[in-house]
Parts: sequence; structure tokens; C-alpha cells
Amino acid sequence: MAGAYVYKFLTAKSGKGTLDTPSLALNIIRKKFYSLIYFDNAATTKPCDEAVKAAANALTAAFGNPSSRHRVGMDAEILLRQARDRLAMSLGCAEDEIFFTSGATESNNTAILSACENKIKRLPRVVTTTVEHPSVKACFDKLEKLGAEVVRVAPDENGDITDKMIFDAVNDRTCLVSCMLVNNETGYVLPTAKAFAMIKRKYPDCITHCDAVQGFMKLPFKAKTLFADLISVSGHKIHGAKGVGVLFIKKGTKIAPFMLGGGQEKGFRSGTENLPAIAAMGEAVKLLTPTIDSRLQYVTELREYLVEKLSEIDGIEINSKPSALPYVTSIAMPNFKSETLLNYLSDRGICVSSGSACSKGKKSTVLQEFRISAEKTDSTLRVSFCAENTKAEIDELCKTLKRASGELCTIKRK
Ligand code: PMP
Repeated sequence: MAGAYVYKFLTAKSGKGTLDTPSLALNIIRKKFYSLIYFDNAATTKPCDEAVKAAANALTAAFGNPSSRHRVGMDAEILLRQARDRLAMSLGCAEDEIFFTSGATESNNTAILSACENKIKRLPRVVTTTVEHPSVKACFDKLEKLGAEVVRVAPDENGDITDKMIFDAVNDRTCLVSCMLVNNETGYVLPTAKAFAMIKRKYPDCITHCDAVQGFMKLPFKAKTLFADLISVSGHKIHGAKGVGVLFIKKGTKIAPFMLGGGQEKGFRSGTENLPAIAAMGEAVKLLTPTIDSRLQYVTELREYLVEKLSEIDGIEINSKPSALPYVTSIAMPNFKSETLLNYLSDRGICVSSGSACSKGKKSTVLQEFRISAEKTDSTLRVSFCAENTKAEIDELCKTLKRASGELCTIKRK
């Protein structure tokens, strides 16, 4: 009713009417009356002011092509170098071990497919886990089609993957092992560093790759402490910009270029650098690096508060283990479909995701791999924090979930 009124009012005001559906008007009402609560930081984060400024600067004052040998190009090149230095500092590596890509999907594809390209005939075995992001899983599926022997380590009956399970999957015919740092759907922290340390000690030639997207700037780690030859991270998960990622390549690691062309990134990744996004990522890293521990402490308090408040709502279950990284909490409200709950919350200005944003439209198999029942998987929501979230926002989420269980039950009974 109110939606129709606003729709009429807005179309009348705009003459011919720029708004052509009542639902658009409803969206305007929602935006006006509900302040936004954003709990979907594992899908993407809001760019910080510093990142926005850096991107704007790279689109205006420093708009040049970093490869150009004139003043405008050199200004752009300085920004590129600054961002590279910041990324190198954050991963504790040399600046010539940092390669900018279009995002972690490209970093993962490059790491896995290119590293195996020339070695797979001699060393046909590759190892990964069953809980990886689709951008890793799809690469292993492709390698399998090409004839590789793919070993996928699955969580045990308790939903755990141990360092020994990963180590035991590797043998002297293994070309590469890829294991994520933090699972994007549950916050589960994998024993990647321990497993890689054991693997490197026994099989120094086996390439170790880590998709560290959900742990970067959240957990204190360095390339050396991970024992990884290759590390993928993404700009838009750390309050930077979309369309940029980094692949760390440890000096001496033999890996074929993935993108061929103009020879940017020391010939490894051709294509003009996405400087606005790269500069934004550099600024975000500069801002977040000194606060990794204090943010982790704050977000741990937020998660404890969330768990306490959720325990006051009948029927809610927590899928994530207490040992999970507190930035991501997977919860289930059996009897309600994830999509129904997600829409209910979204209509009231609260953004969460159902399972993983990357498996939109597709059922996630990862939750079941973690031994979460099919029934719970269907009613799962992922609440993912950043350090800007507050306890007041958690109160609002829990109040709305409580209301949802009442109202959606009523609808079901009718
Ligand atoms: N790996 C993980 C664990 C992720 O969560 C994501 C993003 N959902 C990616 C890789 C892909 O990152 P990007 O969006 O930068 O391609």
C-alpha cells in the first residue's frame, strides 16, 4: 500500500517516470526506514576511505599506464611500486615475489594450472581438500580430466582435517598440494602451515599452494610461516577493491606464465595493471596490517556475543566449530529455508548470505563435507563480520531472527 503510494508520488514527480515498477519504490522505502546492517564480509567488504581515495587518485592525477616511459606513466609506476612494497611487507617477502592479478580466482587458476603444466607428466599426483573454493576445485577437476591423479582429502567423521591427513596424501610422485587457510563457508581454520612444513621437509620439490583469501589481514601469517611456495589473496575481501588479487610466488618456484602478451609483471602476467584497484589494495593493506591482532580480539568478542544471543532463540544451531575463525559463523535454523530467511532479513536491511555467495543458485557440498546434515545445510545462513560491526547490530540481527521464526511459522501454519 505504502509502496504503491510512494511509487505514484515518485513517478508523478519525475514526469515521464524514471521508476517503472512498484517494487523499486518499495526498495526506496526499505532504504529510507531501515539502516543497513552488513554481515556478509566474507563475500565482499566495503572499501575503506583510504582505498577509495587511492583508487580515485589513480583514476585522475595518476591515470597513466605504468609501462609508459614519460612523466604520467612514471607517476603511475610509483603507485604500483608502493602497492607492491606494501603487499610484500604484509606477506614478509621480497617485492619481486608479488604478482598482481585480477583477483584470487585468477591467482588460484594460475598457481594450480601453471605450476603443474610442465611437471604433471613426470609427477602425476596432485593433492587438495574437498572443502576448497570453486576456483580451486574446478582446477583440480580439469587436471583430473587431463589425466592427473587427484587426491582430495576429506574431513573425518568429526568434520576435521588434520595436518597428518594432508601429509599422508602426498608421495614422491606429487607435483603440487593446494590447501586453503580458512574455509569461506564455516570459518574453519585448516592446519595448512603444519602440513606444508612436514611436506616440504620430506618432499622439497612438491609445490605448496595456499588459497589464503579468508585469512589474509585476519590471521597473522607470513609466506615463510605458511611454508607456501604460492599464496593467493584478494583485494575486495580486505576493504580494498574488486578486480585485483595477488599471487605470491616464492623465488625459485618454476611456474609458467598464464597470461601472455605485453610482458607486464616481469613477463609473468601480461595485461595493463588495474592500477586503481591495486592502489586501493595497497592502502587497505597498509591500514589493516598493524591492527590484525586487535581486530581479531574485537571480532572474537563479537562472535562470543553472537553465540550468546543466538542461544536465546529456539531452534538455532551453530554449524561453525568454536575453534573457527570468528570472522565467519555458519548458523542453521532448521525448518526454514535459507533463502526465505535471507530474504526476510534483507527486506529489513540486514545482509547475510546463505552458505557461500560463490555457490549462488547451487547447493554447497562443502557444508556436507564438514559433516553438517543436508537438512541443516538447506537452512544455513553465513554471518561474516568485519571490525566495523557492533554488538548493537548483533542485537538487531537476533531480534529480527526471533521475529522471523514467529512470523514465518505463522505463514507456514496458514
Ligand atoms: N578463495 C576463497 C576462499 C574465496 O572466499 C574467494 C571469494 N569468494 C575466492 C577464492 C575468489 O576470490 P576473487 O573474488 O578475488 O576471485
